[in-house]
Amino acid sequence: MNGGLHPRADVDRIYVWRTLGGCGLLGVEDTVSFERATLYYYLKDHTDVLMKNVLSSGFVKTPADVSIAPDAFKDHLNVTQFQNWRDKPLHGQYVRNLQDINCFNSFGWLVHSDLKIKTESLILAAQDQALTTKYFNTSILGGSDPLCRLCGTNNETVAHIVSGCSTLVRTSYKKRHDAVERHLHWCLCSQFGFPVVKEWWKHNPRSVEESESVKLLWDFTITTDRTIHANRPDLILVLKEERRAYLVDFSCPFDNNVTRKEAEKVEKYQDLLLEIQRLWHVRAEIIPIVIGALGAVSPKFDDWLKSLHINLYPCTLQKSVLLETAGLLRRTLNIHL
Ligand SMILES: [Zn+2]
Repeated sequence: MNGGLHPRADVDRIYVWRTLGGCGLLGVEDTVSFERATLYYYLKDHTDVLMKNVLSSGFVKTPADVSIAPDAFKDHLNVTQFQNWRDKPLHGQYVRNLQDINCFNSFGWLVHSDLKIKTESLILAAQDQALTTKYFNTSILGGSDPLCRLCGTNNETVAHIVSGCSTLVRTSYKKRHDAVERHLHWCLCSQFGFPVVKEWWKHNPRSVEESESVKLLWDFTITTDRTIHANRPDLILVLKEERRAYLVDFSCPFDNNVTRKEAEKVEKYQDLLLEIQRLWHVRAEIIPIVIGALGAVSPKFDDWLKSLHINLYPCTLQKSVLLETAGLLRRTLNIHL
């Protein structure tokens, strides 16, 4: 009724805690089971005769698994539901992949980012691969044409639409990339006292911002003595007094590739880093800001942001990515959520 649950999204996931990637709803049956367990444990060691009679009357039924104490009972229920979701071939594939690449801390946005319920359900349905893509139509519903409606060359899967379609590279993917870049630039400007507008999405970054202690370069080609092809990271922050420089580069690959993309970014800018250290007499560091198109981040993501000396919840950047991803899914698949 309210668009909070896609009709084909996973049902077990509804009751899994948000920190584990679920919707965090309290199940009525689970609540009853928990109350029964709690009541049973209260009565079973009671010495009062009347209480003993209550227990033996059968009015309080013992829970199915009496070996688990009440405090652990909720955990037990949640772990069971999580495992049910994770072990499903299609719906559980996303979370299994996150575990495989050690990105299981990627659900911060579900706890903190406060997305509208319809946007949240669209992203969860995309993670569950429950959206009606042409590949889904062909493989599950028996259609005949699995190829992407935009590029016509690859199977139209959720992964292809959100991060692999050549037609969207210069439009929707660039817009998403720029949104994260703009958001982070706005945060850095606020942090270091450069003038900014109130809303980050109205921020118009300048190529160079400079004060006595800080220099901030946006999309700026660095001139070096020897030829270096990767010489234009998205952002460079220079702290003059500390003699430190940070080379920041963004990417929004598909979620399975987040950790690999981070390593690629660090490798890509190594030559530039050495050259900047030599020419500018600073200690330089590469900061890859990589957020999966459906929200995944690596375990290092928080530390990369802390290195930049900004007070920013990591989930706010995840939110910027997810809003853009939701928009492109709606436009491409004609979803009116
Ligand atoms: Zn395509």
